[in-house]
Amino acid sequence: MADDLKSKVQEVLREVRYPGMSRDIVSFGFVKAIEAEGNGVEVVLAMSSHNQEAAEQVCREAEAAIAAIDGVDKAVVRLEMTKPAAAPQRAVAREGELLSGVRHVIAVASGKGGVGKSTVAANLAVRLAQLGHKVGLLDADIYGPSLPTMFGITSRPMTDGQQILPFEKYDIRLMSLGFLVEMDTPVIWRGPMVMKALMQLLGEVAWGELDFLILDLPPGTGDVQLTLAQKISMASIIVSTPQDVALIDARKGLAMFRKVNVPVLGIVENMSGFVCAHCGEKTDVFKQGGGERTAEVLGCPFLGAIPLDPAIVQGGDDGEPIVVSQPDGAHSDAFKKVAESVIAEVEKRSRPLLRIVPG
Ligand code: ADP
Repeated sequence: MADDLKSKVQEVLREVRYPGMSRDIVSFGFVKAIEAEGNGVEVVLAMSSHNQEAAEQVCREAEAAIAAIDGVDKAVVRLEMTKPAAAPQRAVAREGELLSGVRHVIAVASGKGGVGKSTVAANLAVRLAQLGHKVGLLDADIYGPSLPTMFGITSRPMTDGQQILPFEKYDIRLMSLGFLVEMDTPVIWRGPMVMKALMQLLGEVAWGELDFLILDLPPGTGDVQLTLAQKISMASIIVSTPQDVALIDARKGLAMFRKVNVPVLGIVENMSGFVCAHCGEKTDVFKQGGGERTAEVLGCPFLGAIPLDPAIVQGGDDGEPIVVSQPDGAHSDAFKKVAESVIAEVEKRSRPLLRIVPG
């Protein structure tokens, strides 16, 4: 009897969503315990959300949903707010006070260039901000800093005498390595300077309190990626196009992060199918589903697929990411799913083991 009631409770909780999210609180892993005795139900929700108000709203909705079950006289939902970990758990401590106000550093990486890593980093950052988080974006892609173009920033950063002030646009804080290293300087000469400039941007920019700092890394598995992984606590996301050759590179990236103990939150498949605006037919220009298969084979989460669309190129060139220019479009939805998956993966790693009562 009690087990029947527990199953019913779990069922109704699957209808309750975190505000602004399309996933329900059960699949998010928020339900820590369900107890049923007689006609009374007590549920514990554990969240490391940064938004107390949203968490309380979830509790109220959960309570109302349980109270509406036939035969339930008393429904109590308790909220346990767990403090979010400074970053997805790693053994390496941060260097001094570096990024002390930042909860999660997430590096967006790709095995090779041109797969849309910067596009994904930019749209993911803005989407996370649209979902109510405090977000910063650091463009560390020395081989092609694209943030100034993607956000339409033409001026140089200012300082307050002590720190470099980040730009603020679309509700996120922005900084690019391109502002510190002259872009017409030969790459070979720039090499040794890159880490110094990057550490300066991490340490001397007034990032302030952030829920997420997204790092747009250079492509590949070189010194920058390795040194960063050793110096700061971070997690990573790998962006790949769906075809085999790009995925081989993505696998290398994944192997590198695992070797240096940087958690891989998952793979994003970009340029995944093109839908013709005239006839509606879908063409898988770079095949399809490779990212999902690779994620499965390599045992890491699949965070979502972003379709190929000229509007994304246009958005990047016009200084207005597509999630800003077409907030209700299909691409914004796709980026929303990726953002939600990222939040879910971070949540999972920020919490001690959950006891989910089987339904
Ligand atoms: P990377 O950072 O991997 O080098 P970029 O983000 O700079 O790649 O993207 C390379 C080019 O591909 C840019 O012109 C960008 O606008 C375009 N692009 C990225 N993602 C998509 C997409 N889903 N659909 C269409 N064009 C895209």
